[in-house]
Amino acid sequence: MSRQAAAALHLLQTTNSLSLTRQSHAYFLRTGFFFDNQFATKLLSLYANNLRFTEARNLLNTIQFPDVFSFSTLIHSYSKHKNHNCENTNHHEIIFLLSKMLSFGLLPDTHIIPSVIKSCTALRDTKNGKMIHGYCVINGFFQDSFVLSSLLHFYVKCCRLWDARKVFDEMSEPDVVSCSALVSGYARQGCVNEAKMVFGKMREFGVEPNLVTWNGLVAGFNQSGNCLEAVMVFQEMCLCGFKPDGMTVSSIVPSVGDLGDLLLGVQIHGYVFKVALLSDKCVVSALIDMYGKCSSTVEMSRVFDEMCFKDVGACNALISGFARNGLTEDALAKFKELRKKELELNVVSWTSIIACCSQHGKDMEALELFREMQVSGVKPNAVTIPCLLPACGNIAALMHGKSAHGFSLRTGILNNVYVGSALIDMYANCGRIKFARICFDRMPVRNIVCWNAIMGGYAMHGNANEVIKIFRLMEQSDQKPDFITFTSLLSACSHSGFTEQGERFFNKMTKEYGMKPRVEHYACLVTLLSRAGKLKEAYSTIEQMPFEPDACVWGALLSSCRVHGNVNLAEVAANKLFELEPNNPGNYVLLSNIYANKGLWKEVDRVRDLMKSMGMRKNPGCSWIEIKNKVHMLLAGDRSHPQMAEISEKMDNLVMEMKKAGCLPVTSFVLQDVEDQEKEHILCGHSEKLAVVLGILNTSQGSTIQVIKNLRICGDCHDVIKFISKFEQREIFVRDTNRFHHFKDGSCSCGDYW
Ligand code: ZN
Ligand code: ZN
Repeated sequence: MSRQAAAALHLLQTTNSLSLTRQSHAYFLRTGFFFDNQFATKLLSLYANNLRFTEARNLLNTIQFPDVFSFSTLIHSYSKHKNHNCENTNHHEIIFLLSKMLSFGLLPDTHIIPSVIKSCTALRDTKNGKMIHGYCVINGFFQDSFVLSSLLHFYVKCCRLWDARKVFDEMSEPDVVSCSALVSGYARQGCVNEAKMVFGKMREFGVEPNLVTWNGLVAGFNQSGNCLEAVMVFQEMCLCGFKPDGMTVSSIVPSVGDLGDLLLGVQIHGYVFKVALLSDKCVVSALIDMYGKCSSTVEMSRVFDEMCFKDVGACNALISGFARNGLTEDALAKFKELRKKELELNVVSWTSIIACCSQHGKDMEALELFREMQVSGVKPNAVTIPCLLPACGNIAALMHGKSAHGFSLRTGILNNVYVGSALIDMYANCGRIKFARICFDRMPVRNIVCWNAIMGGYAMHGNANEVIKIFRLMEQSDQKPDFITFTSLLSACSHSGFTEQGERFFNKMTKEYGMKPRVEHYACLVTLLSRAGKLKEAYSTIEQMPFEPDACVWGALLSSCRVHGNVNLAEVAANKLFELEPNNPGNYVLLSNIYANKGLWKEVDRVRDLMKSMGMRKNPGCSWIEIKNKVHMLLAGDRSHPQMAEISEKMDNLVMEMKKAGCLPVTSFVLQDVEDQEKEHILCGHSEKLAVVLGILNTSQGSTIQVIKNLRICGDCHDVIKFISKFEQREIFVRDTNRFHHFKDGSCSCGDYW
């Protein structure tokens, strides 16, 4: 060996510097000096310690006969250091190195195995993990405590608790870390008894549970939704003298909220204050969420306002707290305020405010927020879209719905079942049942929500045949029907007048599927019978119900009484309804319409006086129509729309044409006892007609018109729109609270059966 080579070798033994390492490496390469494994490994570890993994690996590739030590050096470096670009890269490297090692006929030892298992754990790589487990059993490494405890963690993390338990039972002296891992694994999977059993056995093994063990148990039960268990463990923990830390508190508070135990929540809040945990952001967010769940919104806002540094988690908890309690205005105001403060609101924040709006009738606001969200650079995800789509459906904002569909397609979330179901609902609600069907047919995976969505869609469109067909398909698939499935089936039958089939499905539900009919199924049955004119049978069904009929059931009877002009039964139903929902003006209006229809004007007056004395006003009829991406809202009798003059002129024109054609408007649908001329005038103000006329004025000849109404369509408007569909040669969809009416060539898809 030359003196220079000896100096270079000496340098390698003493240095840590990357540049010196590179210099020595270069010297050896230049002089062609053969260096043995010992020196190569030294070089390798120097590169690895300096995080030069590529250089280390290249060096390993040049070693002709690498040994176990060369591999273990590199594996250790990989497992010690994090790759900041991609967390999993190093783990993949480690597994690759293991397979390479085996290809050289080198066997990993008990130093290497735990690192490799750690990588399998991080990657949730059960295949390789199980293989290594087998290798350990064959090669007698199963006594090594490091190997066993890393295998235990591996199985717990991969949710294979049965395997974890087998490994645990092999341990001669399980330590507190292993015990805690298994206990929390069981708790997280909701295996309450097993978790408690292992926890109880710890002391038998001579292992004292520590704070980590308790926290694992509390957090695990909380995560698996065993709220009561979590609270009980928490109380026991305090009794045993353990001081809850931030981790404990942020795990227990959600359970307290789910249980609605405000008293315990307040106690924990007091404790948090006492031990100065209020600087822990997770703790504060959890407290805000808990107060929201306990409907204690004042306290919720106070906790938020007193926070020094507000973070996005706390903001989201606050917004969803307002939303949960129906305080939409507060949620919106707070959201606006937070945006002004330039807080980094994320996709969760935007999604919860959009959900809040679309769930509480603020559909236009939801659409606007969705637009602003995208403008501000936050990307919607597979949760946002199903929250937004109901808003599009509610007001038939088809263009907005379609653009959300396009977005889902582009971002690859279309195969998500919740996105798919929401799209089906949206298209059905916007009158595009064919699009809904295409979405349904193209779904790669379907769950009960998807099946119910498409059946509900067809039911709303009054297409009972298709609902029944899909139900048959469902019966042939693996999917079991649920309560909602039968509601759709029965309501479809009632809309289409399929009385006998409906009754058969009602019986099938109990006899074949063993489901007890709920009140909504009875409501459908009552509608089914009473619409077919079997009012007496409907009434006796109500009397024989196994529980108290609710407003829906009586409401179904009352509206059928209007169709069949049965005043006596209408009075029975209405009186029940006045008891059940004294403040719903709809019931009074319906009864007075029935009286008006029969010319019983004194009775009409009586109902009107009753309404007045209770300080009630008729719910204003309201309709929506989307024209060129903009949604217009029209209120009955409201003349504020900028095109009102044009609408009136067109309306007068149409009424004249109608008279010419011999179709006279039905004036019995007006509440007041007024002169015929006046009645006609009031009828002209109905919002659905105004919306249809607005549509005719602003869309091209022959295009389809789509209107949504917040109340049931009235008979007069039904007649007028039938006439318009023929006279103007337009297809017109009107969705009321009950179903879809598809007007074409002077007739309606409901066959006047509504
Ligand atoms: Zn009307
Ligand atoms: Zn109709």
